[in-house]
Amino acid sequence: MHFFKYKGNELFAEDVPVRKLAEKYGTPLYVYSHATLLRHFKAYDDAFDGYPHIICFAVKANSNLAILRLFAENNGGADIVSGGELFRALKAGVSPKRIVYAGVGKTDDEIRFALRSKILMFNVESEAELQRINEVAGKMKTKAPVALRINPDIDPQTHPYISTGLKKHKFGIPIEDAIEYYRAANRLKNISIVGIHKHIGSQITKVSPFVDALKRILFLIDELNAQGVNIKYLDMGGGLGIPYKDEEPPVPKDLAKNILPLLNGRKMTLIMEPGRSIVGNAGILVTKTLYLKQGHEKEFIIVDAGMNDLMRPSLYGAYHGIIPLKRYRRANTFADVVGPICESGDFFAKEREMTGVRQGEYLAVMSAGAYGFSMSSNYNSRPRPAEVMVKGRKHFLIRERETYKTLTDNEKIPGFMK
Ligand SMILES: *Cc1c(COP(=O)(O)O)cnc(C)c1O
Repeated sequence: MHFFKYKGNELFAEDVPVRKLAEKYGTPLYVYSHATLLRHFKAYDDAFDGYPHIICFAVKANSNLAILRLFAENNGGADIVSGGELFRALKAGVSPKRIVYAGVGKTDDEIRFALRSKILMFNVESEAELQRINEVAGKMKTKAPVALRINPDIDPQTHPYISTGLKKHKFGIPIEDAIEYYRAANRLKNISIVGIHKHIGSQITKVSPFVDALKRILFLIDELNAQGVNIKYLDMGGGLGIPYKDEEPPVPKDLAKNILPLLNGRKMTLIMEPGRSIVGNAGILVTKTLYLKQGHEKEFIIVDAGMNDLMRPSLYGAYHGIIPLKRYRRANTFADVVGPICESGDFFAKEREMTGVRQGEYLAVMSAGAYGFSMSSNYNSRPRPAEVMVKGRKHFLIRERETYKTLTDNEKIPGFMK
């Protein structure tokens, strides 16, 4: 459910006509719905009500400070994968006691930053990383709270690029070796074992991979308990899918219904790390139709947003709905919706049936709130879009459009050049 709906023939974000936003802020433009963000966040919080839990929003899905603040205000935490994300989460007001830190390549600087900030735990992905964190914590005369990221070897049945929990992936520690790793961790002076972590992939549209993975993890927790290793935090990761087209993924309630009975009688705190399922359908990318171009074999709708603004179609062949901000009664056409970038991979849709598209009018690329702006770049020297948050009848600029000046701000021409 989201709050981007037609009223009459005009697309609204909550109570604001999106066209007004496009005219005021320009295009390409990211628009987020406050009510949708909050509803999706609360859907998790409510679903797991009754069992101790922390909803740690996966910052990489959308790292805008205003969005992070919204979740922080509602007792949310953050799942981070870099020092930069830690900086953002803290700046947005997320309590460090609700921050978990994953990622296979944490640097010494990042480890120090996280230790100084006193985050809840490191989700450790290898033996070498464990050693490194122990050394860094030792030099700082402190103990690092860690969970080991376990790879449960479960197929999430999703796109190969966003699948992470199989043996062949670079993530986590193979489940067969888990006991041995925990034993090793237990021997390290500056490591304190507090939890266990898994994350098997993204855009998962069934409950069963979550349940199967959890069962394997619980089995492991029992073995660990038997050996005197106490697990306080059970981090289930993220990965719940959203409807981009006609998928019917489970909602947090469905997850909870299947997961909570398995946790009955176990004294732990459950951590969830949802990203996409909270922000995905809470954001759209608004773009202007620059040209309609009739090729020999194809029709092209050329828009002012490009793959640098929203990379998912180019990167994964991902589907995004594309609808006009104003509906006209006009014949349908089949067309490729493409951007201005000098790459054939710069498209938003191929041979898509489009209705009522006119040159100079606006389109909305739907479901763009997750892995949209956060994956954007300046390729082709394009300043990145502005971001706006709508709340009822009000709208707020939450990131200014970049300028030509910001594009070159960090560059320097060496003195020896004339
Ligand atoms: C990407 C990621 C998430 C979030 O995944 P979604 O599919 O957006 O919910 C959570 N945890 C970890 C460790 C991740 O890498």
